[in-house]
Amino acid sequence: MGRKLLLEHINVPGINTLEVYRQKGGYAAMEKALKTLTPDEVVEEVKKSGLRGRGGAGFPTGMKWSFLAKPEGVPRYLVCNADESEPGTFKDRYLMTHIPHLLIEGMIIASFALGAKTSYIYVRGEMMAQIRILERAIAEAKNAGFLGKNILGTGYDLELYVQPGGGAYICGEETALIESLEGKRGNPRIKPPFPAIAGLYGCPTVVNNVESIAATVPIIRDGGDEYAKIGVGRSTGTKLISAGGNLVKPGVYEIELGVPVEEFIYSDEYCGGIANGKRLKAVVAGGSSVPILPANLILKTIEGNARVMSYEGLSEGGFVSGTMMGSGGFIAFDEDQCIVRNTWNFTRFYHHESCGQCSPCREGTGWMEKVLHRLEMGHGKMSDMDLLVDVSKKIEGNTICPLGDAAAWPVASAIRHFRDEFEWHVTNGAEAVSRNYGLAHY
Ligand code: NAD
Ligand code: SF4
Repeated sequence: MGRKLLLEHINVPGINTLEVYRQKGGYAAMEKALKTLTPDEVVEEVKKSGLRGRGGAGFPTGMKWSFLAKPEGVPRYLVCNADESEPGTFKDRYLMTHIPHLLIEGMIIASFALGAKTSYIYVRGEMMAQIRILERAIAEAKNAGFLGKNILGTGYDLELYVQPGGGAYICGEETALIESLEGKRGNPRIKPPFPAIAGLYGCPTVVNNVESIAATVPIIRDGGDEYAKIGVGRSTGTKLISAGGNLVKPGVYEIELGVPVEEFIYSDEYCGGIANGKRLKAVVAGGSSVPILPANLILKTIEGNARVMSYEGLSEGGFVSGTMMGSGGFIAFDEDQCIVRNTWNFTRFYHHESCGQCSPCREGTGWMEKVLHRLEMGHGKMSDMDLLVDVSKKIEGNTICPLGDAAAWPVASAIRHFRDEFEWHVTNGAEAVSRNYGLAHY
């Protein structure tokens, strides 16, 4: 059994309450940070831990914190990105629902480290239940003296607010989130400047994902060095994975980074294999914003080494570089799944969610959606696959925010790995339609 740092007490009845959370050692890490460490020492522990951003980009959290500008007399902000909207990703929602005080404790530790006196949790607007849970937990923490003025008599003041999100996927992009928090339409800003220099109201701001902030609790409790002992290479610690699709046991799993992909999919400790005795066809390992990888690639071993669940291990080439673990939304497709249909579905989503500021994304996602739809409906042409690759290349790297890349990658990778299936749709149009609208099948 792998170690659990975030979900260790998830099944304890009442763990969502302050009382039970404290009985299980909750708020001890916060007390340790505020009473025995300086803000810089907290940053140092997080740096030592090797923690990388759990929202999807995998940027080192301690480094991000140390980039925060500290001009005299200017407020600094911590904003928690709880606008979880990546398709196939539901781990932050799970954490906020079942153990909200872990996030609040992490918010206090991180705010203290950054010198923030006002912090926000920006929660996806549709998650009304989680917004209420967090508000209740914040009230409990405030009553206990963990928020507000002079926390635990240390002289540190912190106000923590929950802000319902604007109801758009793009509001999860950190600069769009900041715009939305300021009361404007959630349009991404051009970076640089990064929020660490000019963020909320133009002030230095750190935006961190829910899981990243929660992870600071075990890091401070056990020390950064202890945390760094878990994992593999530059992928340290544990990671929450939202496992979905055609799996026997879909759900949220906390894994030690470095677990072999095969073990994650097939062992009873995790997903228990592919549902209904089917074979695995493909995996999207990090929400929908990463390439679609065929089963033979995701389960491949190179020189006797199994591909592992880590930031590096899930890259397309395998074992080299890249952060294709993304948000940890692990979607498995069985042999009956139609790749054309699923790629169209992803693209439809990105077209709908594009904010429309840059033309490669606004127009390109629309073009890709239309071409994929005609392929899916049996009216495609053999030249469509090259057309899609061409459009995806024109989007990639040419947009203000990563939504453009996120839309381009699944399309390009689906054609790279499953071109024969696309061609089959062109030559067997009527059959493709009847199969897809009966049972998705290839
Ligand atoms: P990014 O690589 O642009 O930035 C990562 C973080 O590091 C940001 O906070 C950025 O401000 C900071 N940063 C990078 N360079 C910096 C520098 N020089 N100085 C200061 N700060 C610096 O990526 P991103 O836009 O934050 O995230 C993209 C990822 O988000 C995608 O990979 C996708 O997987 C993920 N995503 C997740 C969800 C979700 O629901 N969890 C939704 C959409 C996308
Ligand atoms: Fe908007 Fe798309 Fe451009 Fe991002 S890439 S700013 S979502 S148009």
